[in-house]
Amino acid sequence: MKQHYRLLLGFSLGVLGGLLGYYFLPAGEHAFMAKVTELFTFVGATFLRLIFMVVVPLILSALMLGVMELGKGRGLGRVAGKSLLYTILLSGLAVLIAIFTTHLFKPGVGLVFDRVALAGNSGVLKLQESVKTVTAKPWYQYLVDLLPQNPIDSAARAFSGEIVALMVFALFFGWALSTVIKEDDHPLVRCLEATFQACLKIIDLAMVLAPFAIFGMVFNTAYRMGAGFLGNVAFYAAIVVLGLALQFFVVYGFFLKVVAKTSPWEFWKACRDLFLYAFSTASSNATLPMSLETAEQVLKLPPRISRFVLTVGATANQNGTALFEGVTVLFLAQVYGVDLSFGQQFLVVLMSILAGIGTAGVPGGSLPLIVVLLTQVGVPAEGIGLILGVDRFLDMCRTTLNVAGDLVIAKLVSVGTEDASGIPEADPI
Ligand code: ASP
Repeated sequence: MKQHYRLLLGFSLGVLGGLLGYYFLPAGEHAFMAKVTELFTFVGATFLRLIFMVVVPLILSALMLGVMELGKGRGLGRVAGKSLLYTILLSGLAVLIAIFTTHLFKPGVGLVFDRVALAGNSGVLKLQESVKTVTAKPWYQYLVDLLPQNPIDSAARAFSGEIVALMVFALFFGWALSTVIKEDDHPLVRCLEATFQACLKIIDLAMVLAPFAIFGMVFNTAYRMGAGFLGNVAFYAAIVVLGLALQFFVVYGFFLKVVAKTSPWEFWKACRDLFLYAFSTASSNATLPMSLETAEQVLKLPPRISRFVLTVGATANQNGTALFEGVTVLFLAQVYGVDLSFGQQFLVVLMSILAGIGTAGVPGGSLPLIVVLLTQVGVPAEGIGLILGVDRFLDMCRTTLNVAGDLVIAKLVSVGTEDASGIPEADPI
């Protein structure tokens, strides 16, 4: 059976099994289900660790190689500039879709909920606590913190908010190497290339486990939530999904067709496995190794471009997150009856775009930023408690768009450059 079908099977059985378990074998009455979900957690966590453990060497080798190649051909500025432009343009369109759909359908108007219980919600209190430490910094510290004090320390804390600093180090180092190393077969270049290929080999190993892991992770999510998890925020969740679908099919479809002159349908078909990974893991960073593999081996994008765009994009280009933040802030403003002025809505657009750029590519990475945004526009921050129950599902959806957006930008930036690249395709693995 092809890997694609195995993944799809694991996914569908996971949803079905989890829902059946939720209704017929509830955890409260069947103690053995705790053992079953533990086993599935174990399989899922093993799969994720196999991937996470290569993220740091992969980011370093992919970015340094990509930047070195671009630096040599003096294409670095152009690729970086184009990527930034597309990131801002596509994130901007995503947030406009968010504003438009939320205003049109008004999912938050007239919503009934228990305000007192919400203010004491433990998830909300934890988020507010984490935001306090973030917002305590003066503005310049945010910029200074982009540069790591010690790249090894940043690598060690890559999944605790230091991944951007690690990338910045790799960008500088890759550029510096391109000015020092002139030969293509320099030992350091060969070493980085071997590191990159070895990381992809480990990912191939993880792929063997993927159908079982996806089954286990999806089972546990469905088992925990049941089909009625949307509750009274079903309309809000539907608006988020509608917005994501518009961005995916209409905006990306348009850019692929008109700018990249490629069939969007074929493009999506080539990426379908990748979307399943993104959906199941709810993490752009965990999906990055598969994105790199898909870009080079399936979409045949020039490695020097895809390595740069996808690696940076996994953290810095998150259209799904930007859209989600826009809808959520406006929804909660409607819930609390806060009338946002034009200026405040403009602030929501700007901050959502920035949040899409600054959010860590990990599950729930955008939640602390929503709390900051809510506080900025005067909407009670505890409102976020209303959506915590559906966040995992929406996270799976928005992460899929985040990953799709990275590939779309890699494709758009590659337009017209394939012939000029002169870079051999990566060795088949
Ligand atoms: N989970 C998202 C990602 O990894 C980030 C977020 O929106 O929470 O892309």
